[in-house]
Amino acid sequence: MIKFLDLQKINLVHQQEIEERLISTFRSGWYLLGNEVKKFEDNLARYVGSQYAIGVANGLDALRLILRAYIELGIFQKGDEIIVPANTYIASVLAITDNDLVPVLVEPDIETYNINISEIQEKITSKTKGILIVHLYGRIVFSEELKNIATRHNLKIIEDNAQTIGAEWNSVKSGNLGDAAGFSFYPGKNLGALGDAGGITTNDEDLARCIRALANYGSNEKYINIYQGLNSRLDEVQAAVLDIKLKYIDTENQKRREIARRYITEINNPEIILPEFPEKEKEHVWHLFVIRTKSRNELQNYLSENNIQTLIHYPIPPHKQNAYKDLNNLSLPVTEQIHDEVLSLPISPVMTNEEIDKVIHSINSYPNRF
Ligand SMILES: *Cc1c(COP(=O)(O)O)cnc(C)c1O
Repeated sequence: MIKFLDLQKINLVHQQEIEERLISTFRSGWYLLGNEVKKFEDNLARYVGSQYAIGVANGLDALRLILRAYIELGIFQKGDEIIVPANTYIASVLAITDNDLVPVLVEPDIETYNINISEIQEKITSKTKGILIVHLYGRIVFSEELKNIATRHNLKIIEDNAQTIGAEWNSVKSGNLGDAAGFSFYPGKNLGALGDAGGITTNDEDLARCIRALANYGSNEKYINIYQGLNSRLDEVQAAVLDIKLKYIDTENQKRREIARRYITEINNPEIILPEFPEKEKEHVWHLFVIRTKSRNELQNYLSENNIQTLIHYPIPPHKQNAYKDLNNLSLPVTEQIHDEVLSLPISPVMTNEEIDKVIHSINSYPNRF
């Protein structure tokens, strides 16, 4: 059975180093806001190239806290509009609505699955204050045009970098392209913890200070509360694990690229639409390898019968969820088509050549039923 993602194997690659560090963290007697978090934050900031990094409890909180901090700083007001891709994981939209901001959904580009930058301009109103870009599936979405739109309209660019740690655009890492970025270290992400974890990077000192306080009960100084904050801290145990795994992220991302390259070169079933391998390979870290086909469910069943586990990212777009009844009537045909047709193949730094061969062979022998 080829698992979609073998988390046990992924983490056991670093078994000795992780176990030693976990034991020393356990024995230290210090479990929150300590040296492990400080070390990881410093290393994450250095890795991303940003001035500040803040560990938080998870990726959704990372995005919520960035938006909340802009409200606390008076830069956003409740009711302001934030542009966001319609094709994303619901967390991107939840972060916006949780802050009483209004999500303005923009269709993706069918080639990259990322927000269609050329459709952003027409969605901007006097209430638009930010663009929450999502580097979906591990592929960076960014351009000079996007930067110019943001500058022209005085909009903050916030990156949802949950899926794309380590990708680069013109030698700048994702997480350092906009004004602030949220990371998820959910176990299945390219840099995964052993539970929930998240982070924020920015070069904005005021924003960083505000976020740090908000994540810690609204306090930068014990028992002095400047905001009505929340508790969203990264803990020492998760930070210790992440600090180790961060050292290997480039090597692991490169392995993902090699698998993506093989899939793209060797899968040749005419029923299957393959993703594009970007001209500049560093723009993609292949968190997911997403193909499209009209007969998605049949293909998924067929692969399952052949002991290959696949997943769908995502089966229902945010605007069609019961959670967003007020958005249910929006017509977003590109997004809806993507959700009907996509299938994610196994990809991970620990896949063997035999497993990759088997996935390619199985897809190529999938019968053409049309
Ligand atoms: C995983 C993910 C999140 C949320 O991260 P959690 O750590 O699970 O809260 C947000 N946005 C995107 C695009 C994600 O893939």
